[in-house]
Amino acid sequence: MTNRWVYSFGGGGAEGDASMKNLLGGKGANLAEMSSLGLPVPPGFTITTEACNSYYAEGRQYPADLAAQVAGGIAHIEKITQKTFGDAANPLLVSVRSGARASMPGMMDTVLNLGLNDATVEGLARLSGDRRFAFDSYRRFIQMYSNVVLGLDHHAFEEILDDHKDRLGVDVDTALTAKDWEAIVAEYKQAVDRELGKPFPQDPQEQLWGAVGAVFQSWMNDRAKFYRRMHDIPESWGTAVNIQSMVFGNLGETSATGVAFTRNPSTGEAALYGEFLINAQGEDVVAGIRTPQSLTKAAREEMGDRNPSMEEALPTVFAEFRDVAARLERHYRDMQDVEFTVEQGRLWMLQTRNGKRTAKAALKVAVDMAGEGLISKEEAVARIDPAALDQLLHPTISPDAVRSVIAKGLPASPGAAVGAIVFSSEDAERRGAAGEAIILVRHETSPEDIKGMHAARGIITARGGMTSHAAVVARGWGIPCVSGAGDIAIDLKNRNFSVRGKVFNEGETVTIDGSTGEVLAGSVKMIEPELTGDFAALMVWADEVRRLKVRANAETPLDAKTARQFGAEGIGLCRTEHMFFDEHRIAAVREMILADDEAGRRAALARIAPFQKADFVELFTIMEGLPVTIRLLDPPLHEFLPHSEEDLAAVAESTGLDPAKLMRRARELHESNPMLGHRGCRLGISFPEIYEMQVRAIIEAACEIAKSGKPAPVPEIMHPLVGKGTEMKFLKDLTDRTAKAVIAEQGVALEYLVGTMIELPRAAIRAGDLAENAEFFSFGTNDLTQTTFGISRDDAGKFLNDYIEKGIFEKDPFVSLDQEGVGDLIRIAAERGRAARPGIKLGICGEHGGDPASIAFCEEVGLDYVSCSPFRVPIARLAAAQAALAKK
Ligand code: ADP
Ligand code: MG
Ligand code: MG
Repeated sequence: MTNRWVYSFGGGGAEGDASMKNLLGGKGANLAEMSSLGLPVPPGFTITTEACNSYYAEGRQYPADLAAQVAGGIAHIEKITQKTFGDAANPLLVSVRSGARASMPGMMDTVLNLGLNDATVEGLARLSGDRRFAFDSYRRFIQMYSNVVLGLDHHAFEEILDDHKDRLGVDVDTALTAKDWEAIVAEYKQAVDRELGKPFPQDPQEQLWGAVGAVFQSWMNDRAKFYRRMHDIPESWGTAVNIQSMVFGNLGETSATGVAFTRNPSTGEAALYGEFLINAQGEDVVAGIRTPQSLTKAAREEMGDRNPSMEEALPTVFAEFRDVAARLERHYRDMQDVEFTVEQGRLWMLQTRNGKRTAKAALKVAVDMAGEGLISKEEAVARIDPAALDQLLHPTISPDAVRSVIAKGLPASPGAAVGAIVFSSEDAERRGAAGEAIILVRHETSPEDIKGMHAARGIITARGGMTSHAAVVARGWGIPCVSGAGDIAIDLKNRNFSVRGKVFNEGETVTIDGSTGEVLAGSVKMIEPELTGDFAALMVWADEVRRLKVRANAETPLDAKTARQFGAEGIGLCRTEHMFFDEHRIAAVREMILADDEAGRRAALARIAPFQKADFVELFTIMEGLPVTIRLLDPPLHEFLPHSEEDLAAVAESTGLDPAKLMRRARELHESNPMLGHRGCRLGISFPEIYEMQVRAIIEAACEIAKSGKPAPVPEIMHPLVGKGTEMKFLKDLTDRTAKAVIAEQGVALEYLVGTMIELPRAAIRAGDLAENAEFFSFGTNDLTQTTFGISRDDAGKFLNDYIEKGIFEKDPFVSLDQEGVGDLIRIAAERGRAARPGIKLGICGEHGGDPASIAFCEEVGLDYVSCSPFRVPIARLAAAQAALAKK
């Protein structure tokens, strides 16, 4: 049996449908679906992603039977259009468009008007009765094809066009006549001949296969590879190729081309939103060559634009388009991003897909659609990308900030950013990688800029609309962006921009407000986000379906308050050493470290104790009875001593400690491998008085709260870095002894738990032994990852990238849990822990506790809670809800 590489669509039906995205790519599958719905789609066919994969598998050779199937596809188009590919009298022209499973905006290049040559252009001129149009189309084709397929730079062509316009004294393309375009076409062809040493291909078949090959090859270009890495898209997916009969938006004043979202992709507002251009073709709208006009009258008025909207300029076809858009949204049950062309008053749909949107819009659309009954609440929860919520958890400009507005553009991607301006993507990439806050300023962006855009905190473009490349990419990444700031005059040579005579040089700080489109001078005051409205509504729905509890890693009162505001249901990790570093305490801590004997240590600890107790009282008060897991002292003691000799001398001076002794002790404490040294519970075993002081402080604080009549906490006292059952027993006895004594002294009933972090492979494997004396486990996956791989997370930066680039690691295991290795240890520990102590409380407190994929794993293993940094709590709540839904 031969493989099927080609699926046709158009003419009122299709061989594929929307469910076939893997095979037909997103664009092809949706073109087929729209055809089947009876919408006006120019006929065409899709070459499958499998053909692309076969092409690469066979060393860049097309499958043997592909040519015949493509010929069949062309015949299908010819039959419907009543035109013939390559026929000089009645030529069929096609577009060749890439389309992977996931949309990769701007990553792959499209060729329009393919099939034109010196003979067919005459046919097109005769048939259309518009010679100007025919040659305009031909020059577009030569430029696109030469660029995409033959690898020639755009500039050569742009220069020719600009020279012509200069000579004729015109500045818009529309002022050029048929004769002008004909002359330009001739020069374009000469340029190709000169640059490549061979003429522009005249044979439509050669053109077709050249374009198909270029689409396949673009799957492996640098931009596509980078984008795939950014978005975790596997190389093995391949891209499809769509070959589709051309329709023409450049056939006069009743022709147009446009893009639209069925709802506002920035705010989520339920109103048709988009841009169009009269008498234009394809990419003119997104390329920012001419400034596009609004679709609706309301949007035009809001923008204060004088140019008519589509609703006003082409009312009949606009009404038809609005109905189609509404129908698509209902059909797909999601906000659609559509591309269309009007050819002499007739509407053609060229693409639909689920629209990319800001997190804010995603929330509003999901909540609204659930309200409209289009989707269920659970679907609304499932639809929001937890990671995208991050955008909403970021600062915006304070309403009372003084705004010194330099320029105003379009509010292309919301949120605010402060940074130093740079004018090239390379600079943005370099300085951004060095950790600097950068604002990238460009005339307009193109796919070549994506690395720099990604490294920037914010983006400003002088040209381009709301659907320009910069706007779409920035919104997708949650990077604030102001596009089309036309007042800004960029001087690339001198690396500055000026607005009304005032010059801003490279490196100067500006603030951008992507929600208003303003560019502001200097660094402007920001405020933290507030989580109300749609956000709050969605969180309530998420909380209704999630099983995992969500706690926060917090030690300061501010962290704890933030955590609660974001909905944390407890503290999963309070690191007590942070409390030791406080300037009022560090002296006593150092005294304790320097003490020669236990009595000396106890004396110093007695000075720290009241501080510790006060910390816990405050924390328990804020947490109002919610669980709080407190980890006893963990880092090696030398971390509390000054590091350089100068600092040592200064500390000795200010504290009155003996400098020689301080120096000696620092040397004694030096370890060649402190990560595996005298730290964690090993400190508590060597110096039980330290842990005793901490346990006492915790229990006294809890008793104080209990006595005051406020909700009493159930402290969870956690011992770090335990590896052996006998260690745990020692620590449990120590803890109980101290706690019981305090409770007896205080004369109140108080519950508390004693448990451990699981951070060592041995602890995971012997979890059964540990569970005999541990009432809870908290997986400390930062250290557990480190100790499992034997990779120091502080040093991994130097080589982890090599691992990722060479495909040895799929992801950084410190960011997303290594489910097969570290995950297996967690599974084993959970199983053995539960076997030894049914109902043992299990949680995770590493960075992974805020990573959606890792949270899904925690759900699968049946942990009781995840704990993450306060700002990630909403992300974790949503991810936990989605994990629960996925299990249903
Ligand atoms: P991208 O994936 O970059 O959006 P597309 O394949 O959608 O690329 O093509 C870009 C633009 O080219 C489309 O928005 C559309 O305006 C135009 N285009 C593509 N195919 C056709 C066609 N058959 N007829 C007219 N215009 C087309
Ligand atoms: Mg498109
Ligand atoms: Mg640890």
